[in-house]
Amino acid sequence: MKFCSSCGAAVTLRIPEGDDRERYVCSACEFIHYINPRIIVGCLPVHEGRVLLCKRAIEPRHGLWTLPAGFMENGETTAQGAARETWEEARAKATNLHLYRIFDLPYISQVYMFYRCELENGAFGVGPESLESGLYAEDEIPWEELAFPVVRETLRDYFRERDSGVFPVKITGLEYQPRPPSSTQE
Ligand code: ZN
Repeated sequence: MKFCSSCGAAVTLRIPEGDDRERYVCSACEFIHYINPRIIVGCLPVHEGRVLLCKRAIEPRHGLWTLPAGFMENGETTAQGAARETWEEARAKATNLHLYRIFDLPYISQVYMFYRCELENGAFGVGPESLESGLYAEDEIPWEELAFPVVRETLRDYFRERDSGVFPVKITGLEYQPRPPSSTQE
């Protein structure tokens, strides 16, 4: 951040009085611009034993597969955001949502929240942020072409727990992991 969004003057990075960490503070109007973690909400949509995946039409990870997910918007609940993203990316109506997986990613200041859900009438399509979408059984999933580690973990957990029919909510903190040298996806 370089300029104040309130008055347009330059901002400086300093510790405001009474605070304990650096913030961007406006040199003119003194406005403190707090930057906080972002929440990403998404769904694990299941229909007749298959999971709905989308192939990304946007960066990052263009051309790789993901669960429908995106940044939470103001004025919505996390479940509403997850359902909205499922509509935007896969033209599917998410029903019967249950919170399933939470990931803390402090190294990029993000929190992921995935809901298990069903698809209304099993219907889906392709939204503008996707190249294609489809329902995949466990052995059909393109495991080597998944866009994000959180997607892989969520899918792995789901298929492992599916037989028991019990899906406990789990929170995982992920540390930064460089991609292996064999990867050609970056
Ligand atoms: Zn200002």
